[in-house]
Amino acid sequence: MKPLNTKRSETLFTRAQKHIPGGVNSPVRAFHAVGRSPLFIRKAKGATIWDEDGNAFIDYVGSWGPMILGHAHPSILGAIGKVMKHGTSFGAPTDLEVRVAELIKTCIPSIEMVRMVNSGTEATMSAIRLARAYTSRDKIIKFEGCYHGHGDSFLIKAGSGAMTLGVPDSPGVPSSVAASTLTARYNDLESVRELTLASAGHVAAIIVEPVVGNMGCVPPAEGFLQGLRQICDEQKIVLIFDEVMTGFRVALGGAQELYRVKPDLTTLGKIIGGGLPVGAYGGKREIMQLVAPAGPMYQAGTLSGNPLAMAAGYAMLSTLSKSRSFYVKLEKKSMQLEEGIRGNLRTIGLELTLNRVGSMFTLFFTDHAVTDYTSAAKAERPRFADYFRGMLARGIYLPPSQFEAAFLSAAHSDRDIEKTIAANLITLRQVYKPQVM
Ligand SMILES: *Cc1c(COP(=O)(O)O)cnc(C)c1O
Repeated sequence: MKPLNTKRSETLFTRAQKHIPGGVNSPVRAFHAVGRSPLFIRKAKGATIWDEDGNAFIDYVGSWGPMILGHAHPSILGAIGKVMKHGTSFGAPTDLEVRVAELIKTCIPSIEMVRMVNSGTEATMSAIRLARAYTSRDKIIKFEGCYHGHGDSFLIKAGSGAMTLGVPDSPGVPSSVAASTLTARYNDLESVRELTLASAGHVAAIIVEPVVGNMGCVPPAEGFLQGLRQICDEQKIVLIFDEVMTGFRVALGGAQELYRVKPDLTTLGKIIGGGLPVGAYGGKREIMQLVAPAGPMYQAGTLSGNPLAMAAGYAMLSTLSKSRSFYVKLEKKSMQLEEGIRGNLRTIGLELTLNRVGSMFTLFFTDHAVTDYTSAAKAERPRFADYFRGMLARGIYLPPSQFEAAFLSAAHSDRDIEKTIAANLITLRQVYKPQVM
């Protein structure tokens, strides 16, 4: 196997580090967890990305989720090109915004009204402000290991004992803000009940990734989401599904369609922007009516509903919703990849945990079931790093962290999948040499 020539990427990274903190504009891109420097990407098409040195890779990052149709999809590029000729931003309402809102509502019926923003982070920050405004309560419950963007309220994990006050994960988060965030264990309804009892009458919202992607792919246990719905109903707490990753990914109507649980509010991002910077939050009319200028809860954005972003989003959502079989075909591809990897594990005699929901998946380097943050954290990170580098050298670009979900797109061909399965077999053998074989 030839080692990768990544000279140009390395030179660029040296320059980038002089001018940009850590050389990147979002931390995970720096490849810290996998022991090498990042690739600088020049272009992408379908399931393939090319770096600045001209190396080609089959891409399972998909810009962290948006690229469900594959890169540079003609319908999205075409829509952006058409709208762009008329100008890039007006700061005034447009026809396209109305059509995007209508389309989102059709696909996700729990959304009766929707507000567009510019990122997933903005969507979740706005959604909890809204829940607080609606309930006149201050506390929120999130789950250990769930990521909801970089808002102050979300950069919290449980201290020792989930009943204690939140402790910030990052300097700069005021302890007074952290104290309003309570942290429960994913897939553990009892931990949620304890928190709601201890803070009875003070919890405004429970926010959850209905399928977790941000500790690697972790599906909800049977009854977990239903249980959250019940607790929220009993205690008049606003249930927020953060579907920034799962919306239009695990089903057209997101995880709420797949698991048949209706949240009060939903946050969206990633896919709905077709690769442009977009987020959205929406839900029950009664709650959304509080958003300014319909109501008193202030939230605004100079570029919100930007025409280019709306054009890309509209093209994306209409392409996804037009074809009834889109998600069936994507599931088939994903299943094919899962079965190939499971076959490899049997061939080698390895017991690793593979979690998959639709086109989101993670191979965890542990033989324990991964159901929450504690079990995810048991995965052997050095093995993952070896695996990542081995796969990269064989032309497969995976998320550079054990705790990020990988994504398939409609553009991954049978050949791409077969090549990935073959690379997986050789790389796993190499990673576990000499213990197995
Ligand atoms: C990516 C993500 C966010 C943050 O979205 P940004 O657009 O990166 O701000 C929030 N929640 C979930 C579940 C995500 O996956």
